[in-house]
This record gives sequence, structure tokens and C-alpha cells, in this order.
Amino acid sequence: MKHTLSILLVTLAAFSTACAAKTEAAECKLEITASDKMKFNTAALSVPSACKEVTLTLKNEGKLPKNIMGHNWVLSAAADAKEVATAGASAGLDKEYVPQGDKRVLASTKVVGPGESTSVTFDVSKLKAGEKYAYFCSFPGHSMVMKGIFTIK
Ligand code: ZN
Repeated sequence: MKHTLSILLVTLAAFSTACAAKTEAAECKLEITASDKMKFNTAALSVPSACKEVTLTLKNEGKLPKNIMGHNWVLSAAADAKEVATAGASAGLDKEYVPQGDKRVLASTKVVGPGESTSVTFDVSKLKAGEKYAYFCSFPGHSMVMKGIFTIK
């Protein structure tokens, strides 16, 4: 009887550890959608400070062609957002509207067309909790409205 109980406890412990790990991983995954209305579905994203890496998935739910209403997702420090968006817009579609080799870009996805989705996994261990980071779409003309605040809680 005692033996059975200890096996049960070990099983329970293993089960709860697996659950905790699963919850943490789920919190480090973000999803955002973009539309033909030149909008993201949210103006704020955050992840817990326990996340070392974050995976963001961008879905384009629009119908307009990629060269007319394509979208990407770019992350930078809030103070750099305007300049990075401008540099990105002039980088061109073949560069995914992201300035190449620019260290101010903390993460970026490729440009997605209608019905497409893409993901990016990036390191957040160097980002500071409480600090405001900015995300935006750097497709020309979009960053003024397609933007939001990214924070580490
Ligand atoms: Zn866009």
C-alpha cells in the first residue's frame, strides 16, 4: 500500500511539472492578425519575463495582393520605431521592407500576402521588463496606423 502511494505521488509530481512547462511555453507564443483595413487586431502585446524566446505568428487575413496590402511585423525600441520604419519602407519588398543588418531591428517577419501566415522566434532575454518596445508593419505607409506596444511583464 505504501509503495502504491509513492508511485502515485511520483506520477502526480511528473504530471504537474509537465503542465507547468506547457503553460510557460504557451505564454511565450504570440499571435497577431493583419487585415486589408491596414490594421493589426491588437495595439498591445506582452510576454512574461520568464520567456527566454518568444515566437510570434503573423496572419494576414486580407484578400488584397501582397504588393498592394502586404504586412510584416517589426520590433524595435520605442525610440527607434519611426526611423526603423522609414528605413524599412525604403528597403523594398525583396528585402521584406526591413533594413538589412540594422541592429535596431530586434525581430522581424517577412511580408505576408493574403491568407498567408509567418512566424518569427526571437530572443527576449536582453529586453528589459517594464520598458516599452514598439512593433509595427513597415510596408510603405502602414507604420503610422499599424503599430503597437510590446512589453515584458
Ligand atoms: Zn501593413
